[in-house]
Amino acid sequence: MDQSLKLLVVYDSQNNQYTISDHNLEEQHATQLVEQWQPHLRSGCSFIALDQKRRHRTADAQTCRACRDQVKESSGRQPVPRFKKKQEFTASALGTSNPHCSPK
Ligand SMILES: [Zn+2]
Repeated sequence: MDQSLKLLVVYDSQNNQYTISDHNLEEQHATQLVEQWQPHLRSGCSFIALDQKRRHRTADAQTCRACRDQVKESSGRQPVPRFKKKQEFTASALGTSNPHCSPK
């Protein structure tokens, strides 16, 4: 049995856009990341943890099609939030002092 895996999204409600923080996360790890980084997000931005139906095969969450499809399905919003790469999203929402979301 696969244990349940989480897809962690950062959603910006002001601009209706999102980025993928990471995927294939164990629940406990996802919770830790949220607790650690939630205080660093700009107001209007929040983490959303989604249950994955299965493990995603793409290693890099930034290029993972399954992630985006899942957000689209789960968002229930019209218009559907726009995907932004983490680097682009970082500049507008997370500030430059967030090492988790800065380019390495
Ligand atoms: Zn994915």
